[in-house]
Amino acid sequence: MNKVIVVGGGLAGMVLAFRLHEADIPFTLINNPALSSSSRVAAGLWNPLVFKRTTKSWMADELIPELHRFYSACETKTGKTFLSRRISIKPFTEEQEKLLWSRKVARELSAFADQEVYSGVPSGFECCKFTNGYGKITESGNLYIKQFIDAGAHFFQDRLLVEDFDFTQVDARENKLSYKGVPARAIVFCEGHFVKHNPYFSWIPLKPVKGELLHIEAPDLKFKDGVYNKNGFILDVKKNVFIVGSTYNWTDLDDAPGEQGRAELTDKLKHMISCNYSVLSHLAGVRPSSVDRRPIMGVHPKHNTLYVFNGLGAKGVMLAPYFAQKFVNFLNQKHPLPGDVDVARFYKFYAEK
Ligand SMILES: Cc1cc2nc3c(=O)[nH]c(=O)nc-3n(C[C@H](O)[C@H](O)[C@H](O)COP(=O)(O)OP(=O)(O)OC[C@H]3O[C@@H](n4cnc5c(N)ncnc54)[C@H](O)[C@@H]3O)c2cc1C
Repeated sequence: MNKVIVVGGGLAGMVLAFRLHEADIPFTLINNPALSSSSRVAAGLWNPLVFKRTTKSWMADELIPELHRFYSACETKTGKTFLSRRISIKPFTEEQEKLLWSRKVARELSAFADQEVYSGVPSGFECCKFTNGYGKITESGNLYIKQFIDAGAHFFQDRLLVEDFDFTQVDARENKLSYKGVPARAIVFCEGHFVKHNPYFSWIPLKPVKGELLHIEAPDLKFKDGVYNKNGFILDVKKNVFIVGSTYNWTDLDDAPGEQGRAELTDKLKHMISCNYSVLSHLAGVRPSSVDRRPIMGVHPKHNTLYVFNGLGAKGVMLAPYFAQKFVNFLNQKHPLPGDVDVARFYKFYAEK
């Protein structure tokens, strides 16, 4: 059987590779690691909440159980661990915030959060700032995305080509598809924000967002397997080492860490902790967000062998497993894609090109 070619070995491409493997569909994965990848930078947090509005994250009820099933199965396959559960701590400043929290955790967030509103400071968080109590999210955590991708690259080493995809070698006339003269079943582009250079899909309306993070050393911060969320986050990665994030910049879209990002993160830290720290590293990436904040997947309007799987935005860890399954069902069995993620909602941009 002709192979599916997956272009891009970030989170999107790698999750899709595991889904194709589960479905017994032969594939080749092409990735150029010299290009930047937001997956290699991201903290990988998953969380059922939109903190700013204290509302449930889109489709959290469906996405979170699938996330556990999928990444756990990948851990078993690869013999590596990359998924971690954490308690997320949300400090309150105003009384109003607490009231809203109490109402929400009793109803729509009941499956994900502790019902209690706590006073004081949780153990291990003594040098984090608390002024008016806190709430706890019990169903959250993070995926060490880089480890997941590295484990996947090793697991699929005989199907991985480490090179740049060469668009001049695509022949997608009629129903016959080939790449470098070799017949292929389909090409699925999972290039993150680099899709803007893709001659077939550059019209899809991504709204990329640059993000920056700091890795810090802070021996007085003592929490373990936790996340502190206050207009930014701190999560522990190993003894004394923490990730602090993150920034959102829609205008400066290069992927290099900058002074402005560093200043913003330093300011966030000032409001979050009262202990000393030193910066170990400063990282940046570009999130492939879409104009309507939903993933973008499906088939090209003119070439029925060319596909896209993109638009994972700031929530790739949660979105990718569930929607990669939907995508594989679409590719393999022509199951329709949910309308709010189907690239067909943007075909008018192709027509206008
Ligand atoms: C600072 C920051 C913090 C984040 N925090 C979180 C978080 O806590 N939780 C969360 O869920 N998400 C987070 N994200 C978002 C997350 O990183 C993305 O949702 C996800 O990683 C996107 O994956 P992707 O595979 O679509 O894109 P990418 O990771 O950018 O991967 C694209 C891949 O395609 C390859 N590629 C592109 N063009 C070609 C070509 N022509 N030939 C060969 N290869 C090609 C690139 O080399 C790259 O490997 C964060 C992002 C940033 C920047």
